[in-house]
This record gives sequence, structure tokens and C-alpha cells, in this order.
Amino acid sequence: MATTQDREVVDARLAAALEPQGSVEEQRLHRKQRLAAAFRLFGRFGFDEGVAGHITARDPELLDHFWVNPFGMSFGHIRVSDLILVNDRGEVVEGAQPVNAAAFAIHSQVHQARPDVVAAAHSHSVCGKSWSALGRTLDPITQDVCAFYEDHSLFDDYTGVVLDLEEGKRIAHALGDHKAVILRNHGLLTVGHSVEETAWWFITMERSCQAQLLAEAAGTPVLIDADMARLTHKQVGSHASGLFSFQPLYAKITREQPDLFD
Ligand SMILES: [Zn+2]
Repeated sequence: MATTQDREVVDARLAAALEPQGSVEEQRLHRKQRLAAAFRLFGRFGFDEGVAGHITARDPELLDHFWVNPFGMSFGHIRVSDLILVNDRGEVVEGAQPVNAAAFAIHSQVHQARPDVVAAAHSHSVCGKSWSALGRTLDPITQDVCAFYEDHSLFDDYTGVVLDLEEGKRIAHALGDHKAVILRNHGLLTVGHSVEETAWWFITMERSCQAQLLAEAAGTPVLIDADMARLTHKQVGSHASGLFSFQPLYAKITREQPDLFD
């Protein structure tokens, strides 16, 4: 049973993990370090498929610019100094490497439609894209997936590689005010109020897709009642919960791969 003291320890850790209130340069560095760590984790989990996939972080000062991975670089090699800054016209304004046109087409429209969103993540992870082929949202079959209960949607269309801003707009529209959208025949996309939260939603959503694929392959899963699923969503699906859940992964990857800070 958690005590008030336990809660205070958790709250203090959460506060420490939140965006620093320092200068804009400090906030930018904080965000870029979490972004580089998120890429290393995506690489570790095997979420890359060739050159596909991107995580973006809105710049804390230039709010219509975002930081993103260079096109064609392995997630597992990305360092803070490799991240590129892209403006609202899709031009690279910091960094020497090119941006993936699909990253700009999708993420610029998501960031534009959702001013509350700091980061967005998308990749062609195996369970996410397998589940997406079914054209269904996830069912409340586990405690963990309740983070997405009534909080994710389906982009029920597929029109080729997304290179058109109009297509990005349609994806942003399908996302609505949710934390995630399943792109049919394509994969997952998650968003959040921090890089940490966004990466965590992607990681746990990929695993929730795996869990439902496994459960349905073995039998007929028992669904959690709507009231309980809603309660659990409040408990495990908040912005703070997502941020906190990422902390052990951040601690692990930064200890094992400190060169990501270069
Ligand atoms: Zn894609």
C-alpha cells in the first residue's frame, strides 16, 4: 500500500524529470537529450525498418520548428549533435543532413494541429504495423493498454508513402485530441506533452499491439469493463504517468550509451 511519503518521493522524481525552468538553451538541450535517448531506445527495441520512422520535438523557442533525426541514420547511432532542426517550410535550418520528407509531411501537420503537443513519434515497428493491418483500435484487454482507452483513434485509409501536407493534415485530424493514432496498413503514431511521454506511449502501445495479437491468436480475450477501463486510464494514462514511466528506460540507456550526449 503506497504511503503519503511514497507519493512524495514519486512527486519529487517527477518534478526533477519535468522540463527545466532555466534558460531556453537549457530547455532545448534537455529536450534534445531526451530525444537522442528515445532514438537509442527505439533502436534497442528494433523499431527501425530501414530508413523509416521519426520522432520530433518542438523547439522551446521557435515553436513552429522541430528537432528530428537525419534521414537515413540508424536510430542506434543518433547523438544530440546529429539532430537536425526543421522550419515550418520543411527546410533544415540547423545541421548538415537532410530531413525525411514523410517526417515533415506528417509531423509538421500534427505539431500545427496540436499546440499542446511537444513531441510526436512514428515508426514501422513490427507489432504496430501488424495490428494496423486489421483496421481496428485496441481493446481494453490489459491494464497497460487502458492508457489508450477512449484515447486513440484509427486513420482508416492508406494512400502510399505520406509526402503530401494534405495527407499529414488528414492524419492530424484523425488523431484529434488523443495521444495516439493507428495508421492503417502502416504503423503507430503517438504524441505527448514531453519527449519522454511520447516515447513511452509508443513503446507501450507497440507492446499492447503485441499483447492483443498474442491473446487473439490463443483465444478470445476477456475485456475489462468500460468503467474499470476508464478508471485505469486515469491511473496509467496521464501525461505525468507517461513521463514517469519513461524514467527507468532513460536511466538505463544513458548509463549504457553515454555517447548519445555527444
Ligand atoms: Zn511511416
